[in-house]
Amino acid sequence: DHLANKIAAGEVVERPASVVKELVENSIDAGSGWVEIELHEAGLQRIRITDNGNGMEEEDAKKAFFRHATSKIKDENDLFHVRTLGFRGEALASIAAVSRLTMQTSQGQSAGTKIELEGGKIIHEDKSDARQGTDIIVDELFFNTPARLKYMKTIHTELGHVTDLLNRMALAHPEVKFVCKHNDKELFRTNGRGDVLQVAAKIYGMNVARKMVPIKAETKDFKVSGYICKPEVYRAQRSYISTIINGRYIRNIALNKAILQGYHTLLPIGKYPIVVLNIEMDPILVDVNVHPAKLEVRFSKEKELFDLLEATIKDTFRKQTL
Ligand code: ADP
Ligand code: MG
Repeated sequence: DHLANKIAAGEVVERPASVVKELVENSIDAGSGWVEIELHEAGLQRIRITDNGNGMEEEDAKKAFFRHATSKIKDENDLFHVRTLGFRGEALASIAAVSRLTMQTSQGQSAGTKIELEGGKIIHEDKSDARQGTDIIVDELFFNTPARLKYMKTIHTELGHVTDLLNRMALAHPEVKFVCKHNDKELFRTNGRGDVLQVAAKIYGMNVARKMVPIKAETKDFKVSGYICKPEVYRAQRSYISTIINGRYIRNIALNKAILQGYHTLLPIGKYPIVVLNIEMDPILVDVNVHPAKLEVRFSKEKELFDLLEATIKDTFRKQTL
């Protein structure tokens, strides 16, 4: 029902960046090779996400806006083996509940489906063209929740949140071509060739990318790869540390701490490195069902993982200085 969706929206959809996160995750889950993100006024006026993924059949397209409608997990057991970025079936229903949303989707063979919703209610349905993929437009976010709208910060701040998120999504998925635009101006684009360093160069600049060194480690439980910057290229904020678990960008304070300890005394006080770390593990070892936005996770072999990261980073610079 609409009220329940509006309440759920409060948890999933905090600001424009949360909408972008959920929609881009859906595009990636749909196997897209490219995703285009267009924002107007930091997404408060319009967010448009276009992908070339699997698309949906008419019936699934309508169901996608029901709460708890997910095609990604079938039973309780699947919850412990989540391989997709989404699994709650809440995002589309929540976003639609607090915006004017238009979705066009097709599986490529025949005409697709176009659905328009307002505050979560379907107000119009039509055929769309047969372009393979999905195109979602979210207009006037929070138009029907004035309290939330009032809480939005300046365009500048909201745009900061969105770009921070897009940077990390692009770093987590170098195999996907991202095109990101704000008010018709291109923010960045990646080439989708799977090279993290190239994405880092687009986002942080060539000068930073040149100072990044590869990191690699493997144990029975974890496979770590990525790039970390040399201690001399530090930043004043922590937000340049990106940790990616099984393709999902996450936040974990203890994990960041392990990384910083890896740098040990090499970094000046109050300075943080630029790091992109990809960690792969059996999904059974990580609980992603902790936070509505799936940002925070819990590990069951926490100590092993943290020790591994710290030791690997220490090792990297020990070798570097030799
Ligand atoms: P979840 O991602 O947790 O399954 P969502 O509410 O985000 O839930 O999406 C609901 C369903 O809609 C998904 O399970 C998927 O089947 C479908 N869907 C959403 N976005 C896309 C997309 N871009 N391409 C193909 N299918 C999509
Ligand atoms: Mg989703």
